[in-house]
Amino acid sequence: MPELRVCALYPDLMNIYADRGNLLLLERRCCWRGLGFSVTASGLGDPLEPDAADLFYIGGGQDRDQRLCAFDLAEVKRDALHAVAERGGVILAVCGGYQLLGHSYELGDEKLPGVGLIDLHTVRAEGPRLIGNVAIEVELDPGERRVLAGFENHGGRTHLGPGVTPLGRVLRGHGNNGSDGFEGARAGNVIGTYLHGPLLPKNAWFADWLIRTALDLDEPLAPLDDEFEAAAHRDARHAAGV
Ligand code: GLN
Repeated sequence: MPELRVCALYPDLMNIYADRGNLLLLERRCCWRGLGFSVTASGLGDPLEPDAADLFYIGGGQDRDQRLCAFDLAEVKRDALHAVAERGGVILAVCGGYQLLGHSYELGDEKLPGVGLIDLHTVRAEGPRLIGNVAIEVELDPGERRVLAGFENHGGRTHLGPGVTPLGRVLRGHGNNGSDGFEGARAGNVIGTYLHGPLLPKNAWFADWLIRTALDLDEPLAPLDDEFEAAAHRDARHAAGV
């Protein structure tokens, strides 16, 4: 049986809104299907081995914690993450983690480095934080439009470079910057989003997409009894008004 190997980056620092719940859901959905699952952590100063995992994950964080991680990502883990992206490995980054996938995160006079995996940059502009329930329409596989629902809370505004594919189109909420109608970004199997929730328990179908993609499976995953997961998804959509 295949095993999904996950590497969680900075799980102690980048775990706002219980983003770690995303890992629990991956673990459960693998286990229920008889698939193996393992998770390792990579913290400040730890080198990263690009082949050590099928899916690399980084959650959201406050500016203070993000600052520590930004320099570590850029100085210690940058090359490995680029190697992961080049071989088609999955990288999922939420909120503060998403911001660090880009070129930089500007906070007033300070400019935190990103790892430059996706052509985007983030600016902590004047104005209120972008907070609330959010729903977006995504098309991860051509012709298959689906909804992701979650919760966003960010001060940074993210701007995608020309030609960058957003993860989705905002149905309700603010998205990347509150003005262009897009949310998140995707470059191959590198995915960034502002959606907390945690994201995956509210969108179990997306967890399955990640598992299948990370394991490079040809066959669809075995269906599960998703009564509770479907209810969580419905409620999250309902909270967003979709
Ligand atoms: N600190 C970042 C911001 O405020 C990210 C916040 C988060 O991860 N929720 O924009």
